[in-house]
Amino acid sequence: MAKYKTTEQVLGLMKDRERVRNIGIIAHVDHGKTTTSDQLLASSGIISPKVAGEALALDYLSVEQQRGITVKSANVSLYHEVEGKGYVINLIDTPGHVDFSGRVTRSLRALDGSIVVVDSVEGVMTQTETVLRQSLEERVRPILFINKVDRLVKELKLGPQEMMQKLLDIIKEVNGLIDMYAEPEYKEKWSINPTAGNVVFGSAKDKWGFSLPIAQKKGINMKNVIDAYTASDKSKIEELASQVPIHEALLDTVIKFIPNPIEAQKYRIPKIWKGDLDNDLAKAMLNADPNGPIVMMITDMKVDPHAGLVATGRVFSGTLRSGEEVWLVNAKTSQKVLQVSIYMGQSRELADEIPAGNIAAALGLDRARAGETLIDVGFKTLQGSFESLHYVSEPVVTIA
Ligand code: GDP
Repeated sequence: MAKYKTTEQVLGLMKDRERVRNIGIIAHVDHGKTTTSDQLLASSGIISPKVAGEALALDYLSVEQQRGITVKSANVSLYHEVEGKGYVINLIDTPGHVDFSGRVTRSLRALDGSIVVVDSVEGVMTQTETVLRQSLEERVRPILFINKVDRLVKELKLGPQEMMQKLLDIIKEVNGLIDMYAEPEYKEKWSINPTAGNVVFGSAKDKWGFSLPIAQKKGINMKNVIDAYTASDKSKIEELASQVPIHEALLDTVIKFIPNPIEAQKYRIPKIWKGDLDNDLAKAMLNADPNGPIVMMITDMKVDPHAGLVATGRVFSGTLRSGEEVWLVNAKTSQKVLQVSIYMGQSRELADEIPAGNIAAALGLDRARAGETLIDVGFKTLQGSFESLHYVSEPVVTIA
């Protein structure tokens, strides 16, 4: 049974910025982004206080049903423990397919790390290259998940050594792209290294996965995988899923290799902030300072049938609180934040405040558009934003 935490406990943890990670999943179409997200969502370990009391008495599935998780894309804050320490992993939905509107780039800007999913049979494809390039351009550190490893056994009927070779070829190709697109400083630092453990091999559909260090620790190897898929029934695959659950492998790897917001914002802000770095606002962002002036980048605006327009984005500095006025840099207007919440799958849970380094949802910002930058009203004369948007002026209606 997963360890559960309530929203309140998670909000407390969000203040400890070293325990926070902001990630997204990116992939070529059909390589398994949705299936992987679902596995993480199902393991999220955060429940609303409404069901917290009952959780222990319920089986896993009914907890999930109560939380109203659906299979389609979502933002979600996940709770995960490594070596007895709890972490909050904010998983941000990135658009499924690359288009020309810059939407992938925009949502990547809110992340510090990406899980790049690659189908083991198809290998690196055109969109793998595009999303990985965009990730590197935003200084978002990639880790690799080679998915559908079952296909290497079931369809290609490879032996352990051929399997390893095929997987190493994919890693080599991914490293070729990192070498090509990463800035010089990150080429080596961010390259994929199976021995170090920043690549997970597995099957999202069958719910198992491991990095080499995890495999070693648990006494698992490729031979076990082959045995599982050549067995007459599914029991060995299920055994694999309970020995090396995919969510554990991915989240352990994320916590180990993706930087926390304090580390990440130091080198990401100089890349993504279009403006001067030598003022109090930028300095607070560089330090992910929860006591600094508020700065938030809106990555997404969606209509909630009950609540109206919901703005989602990353708080880079300060603390987002309901009731406070913020300045919308592109819209050149101020608006009041009416409600602040965090994501739990399709639902949102109210929060009093969300500190720097986290992902938040806010109501009341209906003049904002995706890509908008919110700042402390005291800094409204300062030049700078994450993205300059061209607002079309509102039509003037004249009544004769
Ligand atoms: P997305 O387009 O990247 O979101 O891909 P999906 O998650 O929708 O997966 C595409 C297809 O691949 C679906 O039919 C999945 O069931 C299938 N799939 C996902 N993971 C695996 C896996 O580990 N093994 C196999 N054989 N199929 C998988």
